Amino acid sequence: MLPPEVLLEAAEAVRSYKDTGISILELPHRGKAFLEIIEESKALVKELCNIGDDYHVLWLQGGGRMQFAMIPMNLLSKQSTAGYLDSDHWSAEAQEYARYYGAANVLASSRDTKYDRLPQLPEPVPANLTYVHYTTNNTIYGTQWHDVPTAHSPLIADMSSDIFCKTIDYGKHAMFYAAAQKNLGTPGVALAVIHKDLLAQMADNLPPMLSYKAQVKENSVLNTANVSGVYISLLMLRWIKARGLRTIEKENRAKAELLYKTIDASNVFSPHVQVVADRSLMNVCFTAKERATEQAFLKLCAENNITGIEGHRSVGGFRVSLYNAVPYSHVAQLTELMKEFETKV
Ligand code: PMP
Repeated sequence: MLPPEVLLEAAEAVRSYKDTGISILELPHRGKAFLEIIEESKALVKELCNIGDDYHVLWLQGGGRMQFAMIPMNLLSKQSTAGYLDSDHWSAEAQEYARYYGAANVLASSRDTKYDRLPQLPEPVPANLTYVHYTTNNTIYGTQWHDVPTAHSPLIADMSSDIFCKTIDYGKHAMFYAAAQKNLGTPGVALAVIHKDLLAQMADNLPPMLSYKAQVKENSVLNTANVSGVYISLLMLRWIKARGLRTIEKENRAKAELLYKTIDASNVFSPHVQVVADRSLMNVCFTAKERATEQAFLKLCAENNITGIEGHRSVGGFRVSLYNAVPYSHVAQLTELMKEFETKV
């Protein structure tokens, strides 16, 4: 969900960008107007993440999966090893991509318990890894790292499904990235933020499109950029700044608390994530105790104009996504319906 005010502003820019008579869909990627969009968005990312000019901010294409590939392509070789924390489908897929380029060891995994908790890091955490990769929020199974894990190697985070949902210590990362389509805009754009020391370690002998160094050098306009997509991300960044991260966090906590409280108190529903401290603020996953009743609940929801809460196709049940733009009132409406359903089954 995108905030209504962002949708309105985007619609206006489709008609005419800043009263130029040119649509944002027509704006040239090498013109002054788009350069201004890039520069403002980079400054806002740094401000919201509380990081300095020792980080490079990039807008790339190819979504989250392209980052799964580019990271090992730029950093790994057959002689080096990366560590991956396996907490969900997406972290596992990121690790599979890395195997094309070098050794990608699973440092910890919660796969055996169907990702119903975060994996425990081994003690001591192995050092001398080229990097350690983890996924801050596990979109499909509904866990989230609430503290940045300790890694004695450069830390890289996939923040695709929780960036800007709360204050995070971004500066503890050598790199973080996010496909934009959750809290940061629309599909087709990915944000990548890279510390200059990590960039210095990256390969030089790559096709430019897949090289972070080349993308940094060309300031994200190496090829025809996704102009409208980056612009919508800028509108989202402005919206996040205007609302304030603390307010956003407070609202996200209130939404999640209401929903988890309703599930925990229910005789009909049960939560997927067993370790309360590991529960996600963004994706609340649960099932019906009697799985056969799930379709009936989805039908009741649809009759009340609530859609899109089916669990991911690989797990079933329900997944309610509470991304930043989802208002508390929507969650309240859903929880009322859950209570009504309890009286009927
Ligand atoms: N990482 C995470 C955490 C995700 O949730 C997703 C998709 N929802 C991806 C990566 C993959 O993103 P994309 O579809 O843009 O490749």
